[in-house]
Parts: sequence; structure tokens; C-alpha cells
Amino acid sequence: MTDFDDDTLPFDEFDIAPARLTIDLVALADNWREMADLSGNASTAAVVKADAYGLGLEDCGTALYEAGARDFFVAVVQEGVTLRTYAPDARIYVLSGVWPGQEGTFYEHGLVPVLVSEEQLSFWMAVTAEHGDHPCALHIDTGFNRLGIPLEDALAFADDVSRPASFSPVLVLSHLHSGDTPSSSFNRQQLESFQKVAAAYEGIPASLAASSGIMLGSEYHFDLTRPGIAVYGGEAVGGVSNPMRPVAKAEARIIQIRSAKTGETVSYGGTHRLTRDSRLAIVAAGYADGYKRSLSGSGVPIRDSIHEGGFGFIAGHRVPVVGRVTMDLTIFDITDVPERDVRTGDYIELFGPNMPLDDVARAAGTIGYELLTSLGLRYERRYLYADE
Ligand SMILES: *Cc1c(COP(=O)(O)O)cnc(C)c1O
Repeated sequence: MTDFDDDTLPFDEFDIAPARLTIDLVALADNWREMADLSGNASTAAVVKADAYGLGLEDCGTALYEAGARDFFVAVVQEGVTLRTYAPDARIYVLSGVWPGQEGTFYEHGLVPVLVSEEQLSFWMAVTAEHGDHPCALHIDTGFNRLGIPLEDALAFADDVSRPASFSPVLVLSHLHSGDTPSSSFNRQQLESFQKVAAAYEGIPASLAASSGIMLGSEYHFDLTRPGIAVYGGEAVGGVSNPMRPVAKAEARIIQIRSAKTGETVSYGGTHRLTRDSRLAIVAAGYADGYKRSLSGSGVPIRDSIHEGGFGFIAGHRVPVVGRVTMDLTIFDITDVPERDVRTGDYIELFGPNMPLDDVARAAGTIGYELLTSLGLRYERRYLYADE
């Protein structure tokens, strides 16, 4: 027996966690509905790959299903198997397609492989000839040069009379590489190529737009849209204000507040020298928590090109990271925050409603997608189910 029985602990884990993550499922569902509105007559899927962009497949998948999503995209088959539990009658597409040996899993869990190459296409035709029909989708490359059946081959296959009549994809899709840059002429080029695909596969639903493609206008919507990042509150289009509600708030606790004198240095390498007497907050999150080392205030190469490092938010103030971000700890300069407004044990917001995800990402030289999917395992998570 110990005196520290779990039931007798006076604290909620969340209230004392070194690092914590609040995930607003109401905002998530609102964002998805907003994407569905913007998609006009097209149906709207939800992209939940990479553990729902790092925010939790179980909770996010369930919330999106309850909001009405019935088409989901995951990257790999195992994500589809997990999602099936929470989205019993949804159509779940697996974007990386299928490998020999996985076909049984697709049949057993009712997952739809998105066939991404002629090799996968022949394989799936052989599988369905042997085991009976099972839906598939075709990814056609219209200029990305990532996954996808080459355009000319896809057009030829559409007209191929030797194609078994029973072999009918349930969706043809392609992916824009510059959707986040509305002025890029690549978008129209890809659109025109995909219009040929949609015409060749007439009668089969077509899908081109991810979050940013939805915002390019109705021509890009076809029958099904595939928003991901916008649903999670991230910026879909560069350089315009983000209309989505923030979903994730990451916070870390101040373990220690220390006073340091002019001329002293801070953190590994001593790369930051204080130019005034300062108060420093030592905070319990670092690069192992996805708070990227490239957010360091100094001492990393990226500071030569992107002058300012990361900022946190506390008591109404933006406070800069000083020196290098370390594995488990980051140091913020809180000199400008009145002493009475900040104590050890308080939380600094790393990103969230007061510190936009994409601003933090830019300081790190990356994108919101990467920050979300790098969060790591140490955050205590709390999901909000109703507006508070
Ligand atoms: C990730 C992905 C999406 C979602 O993209 P967002 O930019 O997050 O909206 C859609 N389609 C494909 C093929 C993807 O890989």
C-alpha cells in the first residue's frame, strides 16, 4: 500500500501536466461543415491520415462522423482498420493503395484501396477476379509526380475494351500540387488534365480538391472534396487570413522562473547574450514535443534567414524564445510581463487561439501540418465536446 493512492490525488492530471493539448472537437466539426458549405454541390470527405493530423484518430474521426462525414481518407491500411471501429458504415479510402498480402485486410474491413500505379491496378484486377468484386479508386497523376497512374495511361485504360465490365472504380481522383497558391498557373493546367479524366470516366465520381482546392472555386470541386488541414484549423491558402477556427491548443508549464543579469548567456552553446537584466521562464516542452529546434531564438542556422524565432503567449503577452530550444525544455523571456501576472506552474501557450499555428510554423521554417503531426506522445490531452 502506498499513501499515494490514485483516488486520493487531489489534482486532475490535465491541471498539472507538464505539457498539455486541448483539442476542440466543436471547432473541428464546425470547420468541416464550413468546408462542406464551401464545397457547394459536391460531397465532402474528411482526411484523417497521420492520426488525424496528430490530433487523435479516435476522437476526431468520431466527431467528424457525428458531424455527418461518410467518406474518409487515410494514408495507410492500418489507419483504415482503426478508423473502421469509429466509422462503421463510412467509405474509407486508403491513399497509398494496396500491397500484395494486404488484400485480405481490405476485404475484411471494407476498405477501398486508392490504386496509385499501373502495377497496383493490375494487381487489384487479379485480386478481384479471384476473390470477387471489391471497390477501388484510381489516383491519376496530373502533374504532381508523386503517386498516381500517368494521365495518358489512365485515359487509355478508360477506353480499354478488354477491361472487365465488373471492374469499375468508385472514384477517380487527382491531387493539386500548388493549390495553396491560387495565382499559380499550375492549378488550371492540372484542372484541365483532370477534366479529361472525369470525361473519360463519365459516370464515376471524381475528386480533385483538398482544403486549398476547395477555395479555388466550384470548377475544382467535382463530386467529392477532400479537406484535411482546414478542418484542423490550419491555413489552407498562403498569405491570406485564415478563416478556420483553431482546433488545437498546445501549452507547457513554467517549471522555474529565474532572474539573469545583463551579459549572461542562455541555453546550449551560450548563443544568446542578455542585453538587459531579464526574467526567464523555463518551460516543460522541447523539440521532443514537436516544439521544433528551429524555433530557437538564436544558435540555429534558420535564424540567418528567418530573423525571429518562436513566441509563446502568456497573460496577454507574446514572449520570445531565447537561445536554443532543447529536448525537453524551452526558455522564454518574460521580462516584459508584469511579475504579478506570471508564476511557476502557469502555462505558456505554444500555439492555439492566441498564437496562430501557422505563425509558429513560419518561425520554424515549416508548415502547420508538420507542427501538428510532430506533437509527440507526452502531451496530456483533453478533448472539448461542447462550446465552453
Ligand atoms: C493529405 C491529402 C489531402 C488533404 O490535404 P489538405 O491540404 O490537408 O487539405 C487530400 N488529398 C490527398 C491525396 C492527400 O494526400
